[in-house]
Amino acid sequence: MVVGESGLGKSTLINSLFLTDLYKDRKVPTGESLVEKTVTIEKKTIEIEERGVKLRLTVVDTPGFGDAVNCEEGWKTVERYVDEQFNKFFQDESGLNRKNIQDHRVHCCLYFVPPYGHGLRQMDVEFMRRLHRKVNIVPVIAKSDTLTKPEINKLKSNIMNDIETHKIKIYQFPECDSDEDEDFKQQDRELKASIPFAVIGSNCVIEVAGKKMRGRQYPWGIVEVENTAHCDFVKLRTMLISTHMQDMKEVTQDIHYENFRAQCISQMQQVALKERNKLKRESAANFDTVGDADRLLQQKDEEIRRMQEMLNQMQEKLKESGKEPAVSLALDPGKRDSVVNV
Ligand code: GDP
Repeated sequence: MVVGESGLGKSTLINSLFLTDLYKDRKVPTGESLVEKTVTIEKKTIEIEERGVKLRLTVVDTPGFGDAVNCEEGWKTVERYVDEQFNKFFQDESGLNRKNIQDHRVHCCLYFVPPYGHGLRQMDVEFMRRLHRKVNIVPVIAKSDTLTKPEINKLKSNIMNDIETHKIKIYQFPECDSDEDEDFKQQDRELKASIPFAVIGSNCVIEVAGKKMRGRQYPWGIVEVENTAHCDFVKLRTMLISTHMQDMKEVTQDIHYENFRAQCISQMQQVALKERNKLKRESAANFDTVGDADRLLQQKDEEIRRMQEMLNQMQEKLKESGKEPAVSLALDPGKRDSVVNV
């Protein structure tokens, strides 16, 4: 996923990274539309081949992010999208056809920081804080050819300080195994020291000393996208589609998705518990109603018994006075509405 405001060179970088032209039919937003613009999600799938391995890669763009006058809640659309993918995976995993799940979860989020500031802006901090527990955030400094080497170093260190101050957890590169060879260890150290990657993108292929390469031609010289002395593009590319792709997928599965899953399960448990409590309360209320009805019936029986006693006494008195009753009266408490047996 690529996130950053319009014009920071996201499309150009994606095209440079995967050597495609993914944004042929793109409509660049006008100034007027930017004011009210909301963040949208655009997905594009490409097939790339890396060292003979075919990869299906989905690039998720977030046009409109950071473009509106009020971009306080720009992160919400992105968060919703990330959650939706987790949720879809959760549903698929709980279904019957678990073997053929299509994984659309976001494994990496390239967050573009503009080169013209002094570090992270409030908007950047807010985005990262809202999403760092859901997705692997890899910050990059956009259009780094606009800065000198010392300026880049200063900006990098400011960004890392901001990340630390705000307790943001960007993607943590795994520790290198102790038995790796020294070259690999050195490469790993350099990679970690380069974060946030200062990148340059270009849609143009330029010929330099008989060699064709992606670069940006200025009146004063050429910036080569794939030259490690010019920018961190190669480091980013290698890390993304080669050295750290698997780790980012594992972190997504084992940490971010597991967090989401645990939350889902605890919410489901809470709902089930509420339902059970509700049922309990209802059955207790029903039990009370039954109790009331029983009490009424008992009272009625009691009344009938008393009436029966009175009748018996009256009959006794009539017998004593020598007058035979014309009818024998009886009340049957079993049949509560039978009053007279003739
Ligand atoms: P998006 O809106 O973030 O996708 O930005 P685009 O990729 O469309 O780039 C916006 C403008 O910036 C275009 O004119 C690009 O040619 C230019 N651009 C892209 N990448 C770079 C870069 O690395 N350095 C400089 N100086 N300009 C760039």
